[in-house]
Amino acid sequence: MAKSVTDELVSANQQYATTFTDPGMDARPVRKVAIVACMDARLDLHAALGLDLGDCHTIRNAGGVVTEDIIRSLTISQRGLGTRSVVLIHHTGCGLLQLTEEFRHELELEVGQKPSWAVESFTDLDQDVRQSMARVRTSPFLLHTDDVRGFVFDVTSGLLREIDPQDTAGR
Ligand SMILES: [Zn+2]
Repeated sequence: MAKSVTDELVSANQQYATTFTDPGMDARPVRKVAIVACMDARLDLHAALGLDLGDCHTIRNAGGVVTEDIIRSLTISQRGLGTRSVVLIHHTGCGLLQLTEEFRHELELEVGQKPSWAVESFTDLDQDVRQSMARVRTSPFLLHTDDVRGFVFDVTSGLLREIDPQDTAGR
């Protein structure tokens, strides 16, 4: 029988464990930072940002949008595990750019039930990063909202471009 992808992952894990040594780390991220990013397969956060095991929390979803559940994770990250900085990362070529809220309506027509969640699609990456920064900064649950920065990762160059939270010129 052909191996499923999950079987391959389990085999890879057995290999991994043969050379793994307990780093003896605490659960609190060493660099006290939480990174909220899109789940996109082309975005290797640790490699792209020079992060090591234990350095940060990585919180990912479709689009890297700041939803209630992201706020839940950030709240636990800051209040329970000592992070202070928040980095938000969207990226070029994101799947959310192809979708609209119409997707929600199509789902409802197909399955007879409206999802409780918003699609959180966007057409303007920079503007969505700004909105995400604003959602984090205005959350009443977070302890630290003074170091919140947002970026767009270019999947072709590997470079981050920082988004100015105030810049709304031409919009
Ligand atoms: Zn994406």
